[in-house]
Amino acid sequence: MGRRTLGGLREWVAVAGVLAIVAGGAADGAAASSSAEVQVDAAAQVAAVEAVLERRATAVLQHDEGQFLADIDPYNKNLRASQKVLFENLVQFGFSKLAYRQGEAQYDQALLDKYGPTAYLVGGVMEYQIDGIDELPAQTPVGYTFVKRAGRYVLVDDSYLDTDQPDSPNQEAWDTGPVLVQRGPRTLVVVEPGRTEVAKTILADAQVALKAVNRWWLPDWKGGALVIALDDTKVRSTDFKGPVWNDTAAVATPVRRADAGFGGSYVVLNPRDRGQIDAGSLAHEFTHVATASDGPSAPLWLVEGMAEYVRGCRWPASPLSIWRSTASWCVRGTWTRRRRCRPTSSSSARPKRAPTRSAGTPSTIWSASTA
Ligand SMILES: [Zn+2]
Repeated sequence: MGRRTLGGLREWVAVAGVLAIVAGGAADGAAASSSAEVQVDAAAQVAAVEAVLERRATAVLQHDEGQFLADIDPYNKNLRASQKVLFENLVQFGFSKLAYRQGEAQYDQALLDKYGPTAYLVGGVMEYQIDGIDELPAQTPVGYTFVKRAGRYVLVDDSYLDTDQPDSPNQEAWDTGPVLVQRGPRTLVVVEPGRTEVAKTILADAQVALKAVNRWWLPDWKGGALVIALDDTKVRSTDFKGPVWNDTAAVATPVRRADAGFGGSYVVLNPRDRGQIDAGSLAHEFTHVATASDGPSAPLWLVEGMAEYVRGCRWPASPLSIWRSTASWCVRGTWTRRRRCRPTSSSSARPKRAPTRSAGTPSTIWSASTA
């Protein structure tokens, strides 16, 4: 059944008049029942959930797992286990800021049937800033379902967006399961637990790549880069098993800023090609990260041209040479680029792939190949 907004919910509550109260102690997935009746107060519902979300953010910032789990349905063992993993993931990212913003409440009869009349489905955003990585606060969508149990609201489901948009892989790196986050200078690498050597290799290449971006394109750029190197093929709008991204080894995925603009990128590696990524490939992607503030409307030939320039060129970085090289790359193609440039890393002797154009959508701009 379709969903309605909070206005619709209030209307529904008014028509219903009195509703069955949901008592504490309901089993997983089962709507509680009671002979008592109560009017659902929409305003109080919003306020109660707001308090839960504030405690949730504070718990992450203060590394307080007990507080984080205190607002999770105590009878849903699977949800508590997944939320425990989520908490352990979130604290590793080192957020300097974190908050959850409520959007409009949604109406779903199926949820009311499942959880009872106090079920409260709300979409919103997780607003955050990763220390050393995000120059401005960023945000990502979340969808939560709360139910009133024993006089307070608890989280009973966090998969609203997953079921609402099954074909849109909007999950962040911390949503994928247990992860290991390794931090280096201006760099954060996300891998599966136990893959410290993979993380170390990427961190070492990242330092070379960051220097290349500073030397050949943006000397004043002091930002950081997040590299996601997980087995999951659907992270941050990627779908490496799909026809668009299958031949792409790495992609710089845009980050939505709290002001609704796009001002950064996180790099996601294709798990199939993870072993082929080197400093040159990261230099290409980090150039996208550093120039992401130019916006999605920047010409593709320009953003890809300067990324390839940083990746492999050793020309004097004068403005004239930059424009000449970029125009040459655009007009004459990869033959000119490969003839005149050399790799920035000796480890780039690897299978070559043809450059892949981005899909051009806001969520998937600035893709890159390992060519
Ligand atoms: Zn690119």
